This record gives sequence, structure tokens and C-alpha cells, in this order.
Amino acid sequence: MKGGKGIWKERILTMAAILILAGTGMTWLGNITVPGMQTLREPENSARKAVGEALVQDSPESQTFLAMDTVISMEIYGDHKEEAVKKSVDQINSLEALWSVTREGSQVYELNHHQGSPVKVSKETAELISFALEMERETEGALNPALYPIVKAWGFTTREYQIPDKQKLQRLLEHTDFQKLQIEEGTVTLPEQMEIDFGAIAKGYTGDLVVETMKKYGITSGIVNLGGNVALIGNAPDGKPWRTGIRSPYGEGTIGVLEAGDCHIITSGGYERYFTGEDGTVYWHILNPETGCPADSGIISATIVGTEGKRCDALSTAVFVMGLEKAEAYWRTHEGIEMILVTEDNQIYLTEGLDGRFALNEMSQGIPVHVIKK
Ligand code: FAD
Ligand code: MG
Repeated sequence: MKGGKGIWKERILTMAAILILAGTGMTWLGNITVPGMQTLREPENSARKAVGEALVQDSPESQTFLAMDTVISMEIYGDHKEEAVKKSVDQINSLEALWSVTREGSQVYELNHHQGSPVKVSKETAELISFALEMERETEGALNPALYPIVKAWGFTTREYQIPDKQKLQRLLEHTDFQKLQIEEGTVTLPEQMEIDFGAIAKGYTGDLVVETMKKYGITSGIVNLGGNVALIGNAPDGKPWRTGIRSPYGEGTIGVLEAGDCHIITSGGYERYFTGEDGTVYWHILNPETGCPADSGIISATIVGTEGKRCDALSTAVFVMGLEKAEAYWRTHEGIEMILVTEDNQIYLTEGLDGRFALNEMSQGIPVHVIKK
């Protein structure tokens, strides 16, 4: 069990891990939840001190480590927190071994290297793929895990960035009909020349599986942050909702704070992985499956809040591709999710379920906030 000093030690370790990642150019931070903290920038206040005292009474089991090319951190409260955290870390490492697109021997690697032949997959992989097929349909193709050859062509996997020519993109787009993938009884067959990558949904699904594990250990309060994909278990230990800083698309730090508990908060933004071409244009890693080019929908940050991590992750990417109008239409016809969207003309759109729970921080005051109603 770690006391108050332990918490700060973990936070220092987190910062060290972030600095290491920043130095290697890996993705590092998105949304961040800290018990009782207003935002990363605000000074301590009396509420913070009161929560600080509560933390000393029931201090969390904390863990920070690198996996899935990002910093993963946990702060877990409850009687079996040590075992719960240990099991969850093992689980995340095992899921990475299944779903890494680059790691030789992973199930995704096997699928990408045996097109046309059936490959046996685990229950988790089969579920991930079935869910991805469902979401590809539901988002009318805005989410498409079969873009991997195009992601590679832009250099987003190797960070040797380049602008592929139109003919190459057209050629590659011919093999991205994800619905042609066949799945039956734990066996998956990719069509010739298709390559898949679950970077847009696997961290969200990992969040679901970790929360399930935590709940098996009786955990009722905790944060699991998978590189900015935040999974919140219950409320903060003081019984109040967690306060999560939503990553700013304008630079480092957060744009505002969302009060919420027992949910996933997942943001997609162009800032995670991008390069500036010789033409001065910024090219980011979220692609429009129709063109093979970076999505240019007018949305620069899409946050989805809901009870299913895999759905929030899939939709954060899909909504970034769809743009405001389609995103609003999707929200009106689907239950169980809320959104915070930032557009390139510097407006924030909030769905009504989050009204009164999201507050802009000091630096973002002045940005117009519009509430989208059903
Ligand atoms: P999201 O918006 O959630 O996803 C964007 C990513 O999805 C893009 O980077 C691209 O890969 C893909 N994509 C782009 N457009 C679409 C679209 N329209 N539909 C569907 N998918 C799309 N990165 C490394 O550099 N090295 C690694 O070894 C590595 N290992 C990983 C292992 C695992 C198990 C996972 C889950 C991720 C790993 N990553 C690795 C990171 C990964 O490649 C992505 O960068 C990351 O998942 C993007 O997440 P995001 O939240 O920033 O963006
Ligand atoms: Mg996503």
C-alpha cells in the first residue's frame, strides 16, 4: 500500500515516462484525470487539500508503465487494489501482444501476413473484429480498420513521413473494403492485399477489459489512463465525480474539465501524430477512408463519453472523420454517448448530456460553447 508520498512518487515517475516518450517522439498524453484537481494548471485550493487528506486515508495503488506505444497509468482504490493492478498490467501486456500490428507473432501481424488463408484468433480478437465490422457499418465507413497500407504509405508507422501520390492512394484504396473480411467460429480470413490495424479502437476495448478485471476484484473507484483514453471506475474516493482535463487541440495542456464517473472519456485529435509537409500543410494520422488523405472535416478534436470504451474509441476516430453535421445526426439516432467537439473555426459543441458538467479552463475562456440538443 502506498501513502501520500507514494502518490507523488508515481506522479514524478509519470512525468519522467512522459519526458522519455516525448524524447522518442512516441505519443504521450491526452486527457488526464487527477483526483480533486481542477486542471493541470490551477493552483491548489481548499477542495484539493480536503481531497488530499482523504487520499492519505485510502491511498491508491498506482502504476505507470509503457505499453501500446504510450504511457499507461492507473490509480486504484479498494481492498484488493494491489492484485487488481497487477492483473490489469499483465492483461494490457497480453492484449498488446495479441493486437500489435508491428510485433511479429501477434494475431494482427499473422492476419496481415496470411491474407487469403484462415487464421485462428482468440476470443478477444474475434470480439474486437466483430465489433469493428459493426462500427464500420454503423459509421458508414468513417471508421475503417483496413487502412493500414495507407497509414504506412504516409509514414505514420515509421515516422518517415511522406505525401503519397494520388495514383498510389487510389491503388491502395482498392483493398480497403473491410466488410470483405470473413469471420466465423474464431477463424478470420482477410482478402488478398488487405491489411488491418486496430489502433483506432484497441485501446478503448482494452479499457473495457481492464475495468471488467478491476470490478472482479471489487474495485469501485479508480482511473485507468491508456495514453489519454481515460476509463473511470465509479466516482473519486470522496464520492464526487472525477474531474478530467480534456486535452487541448491548440497545444499542450487541457481545454477544460469534465466532471464524470463510471465512464470512458476518449479523445481523437490531429495533434497525436502529424507532420508538416514541404507545402506547409499539416498532415495528421486520422484518415478519410474515401480519399486515403488526412480527414479534413472541420473537426480538430472529438471527445466521446460513454460506458463502453471500445465504442467511445471507435467513435472518437469516426466523428473526427464525419464532421459536425454527420456527428450530430449520429448522436441524435444513437443512445448512450455524449460528445465534446472542437471545430477549426474555434467553436466547441457539447451534447446536452454534458451540459453543466464541462467547464472551460482559464486559458480557454472566450471560446464559444454551443449545446447540441436532441
Ligand atoms: P485514434 O483516433 O483512436 O486512432 C487513429 C489511428 O487509427 C491512426 O493512427 C491509424 O493507425 C488508424 N486510423 C486512421 N484513420 C482511421 C480511420 N478512419 N478508421 C480507423 N482507423 C484509422 N504505435 C507505434 O508507433 N508503435 C507501436 O509499436 C504501437 N503499438 C501499438 C499496439 C497496440 C495494441 C495499440 C492499440 C496501439 C499501438 N500503437 C503503436 C499506437 C497506434 O498505432 C496509434 O497511433 C494509436 O492507437 C492511435 O490512437 P489515438 O488515440 O491517437 O487515435
Ligand atoms: Mg479512436
